[in-house]
Amino acid sequence: MTVGVGVIGTGMIGTQHVHRLSRAVMGSSVAAVFDVATDRAAALAQEVGARAAGSWSELVEDPQVDAVLIASPGDLHAEQVLACLAAGKPVLCEKPLATTADDALKVVQAEAAGGRRLIQVGFMRRYDAGFRDVKAAIDGGVIGEPLLAHAVHRNPGVPDTFVGEMSLTDSLVHEFDTFRWLFGQEITATTVVKVRQSPLGAAHLRDPQIVLLELANGAVVDAESFVNCQYGYDVRCEIVGSTVTVALDNPRTTMVLGEGRRGESVPPDWGVRFGQAYADELQEWIGALAGGATIAHGASDAWDGYAASVVAETAVASFAQHARTEVQLVDRPALYDREAGR
Ligand code: NAP
Repeated sequence: MTVGVGVIGTGMIGTQHVHRLSRAVMGSSVAAVFDVATDRAAALAQEVGARAAGSWSELVEDPQVDAVLIASPGDLHAEQVLACLAAGKPVLCEKPLATTADDALKVVQAEAAGGRRLIQVGFMRRYDAGFRDVKAAIDGGVIGEPLLAHAVHRNPGVPDTFVGEMSLTDSLVHEFDTFRWLFGQEITATTVVKVRQSPLGAAHLRDPQIVLLELANGAVVDAESFVNCQYGYDVRCEIVGSTVTVALDNPRTTMVLGEGRRGESVPPDWGVRFGQAYADELQEWIGALAGGATIAHGASDAWDGYAASVVAETAVASFAQHARTEVQLVDRPALYDREAGR
């Protein structure tokens, strides 16, 4: 069976996903695309033999579209995901699930009312080989009791449309999902620590920042966001266990030795660092759908997307109030019963 996918949003990551689905992922084809930038969508549709839909809602209703991939701006995600639910179609929504906790909750409640998990959220680190190794070390008891973690998430720069809160809601939201998943625990409180600002970033960025995350079992994570670090895309972490410490480094490609120095390159951007993880995420999603499931095993679901959005909103409040702020989640609907952040 070939799964016909409709893609909403053909900007940076949407275009990459269209190329993966049409060229690299087995068992999928791109049936339709939509973007408000209609010329770009039409050119991409022609390139991959898809239809350029007249609107995103028309794409969702298209009978050739078996499943929807949402790669539009984050503030549109909740409305578009809800339309997919209403149409009964599986949907892979790029992160964040929603830009407010209220909108994310509406999505969870609508899915729970339908009694079927159709929503997968694009937290692709769960498909990264390095992060999976770290998860296996924790789950396999290799490090003893996981106690704390240090994390960095640095981008060389960001566009002007990236504003202060987005460090938390759009960038560190990856860490919020990652550490819920790695520790199998909900995050219960956040404290955002104001850091001396880099003179090189835009004034509105409040960059860098550090967030302390408290987990339900008492473990603590410190996560640095620096979206204007200049030198490359750098995502690393170290998990400290009671007997062993496990560290995730950048994948090593080339080592350069010369002039008394030994050095390696840093990935230039997220597309390079996590390219394989995006491909594996799409392949596992399509494989699951072809096999009759509605989301891939182990993927971030709507509950995970909701929890990450609540943590992000709590961190924004913590920054504004210069105070530790507790995370308030609603009771988890039975549809999502399983270990937190699975
Ligand atoms: P982008 O380059 O700005 O692409 C978004 C596209 O959606 C643009 O072409 C935009 O058009 C279009 N758009 C605007 N309104 C729309 C509508 N009503 N319906 C359909 N399309 C619409 O942004 P991006 O970097 O690709 O990010 C897209 C999403 O993916 C964001 O949620 C982002 O957080 C997420 N993302 C995730 C990762 C990851 O690591 N998982 C990485 C990158 C991005 P205009 O430009 O004309 O507004």
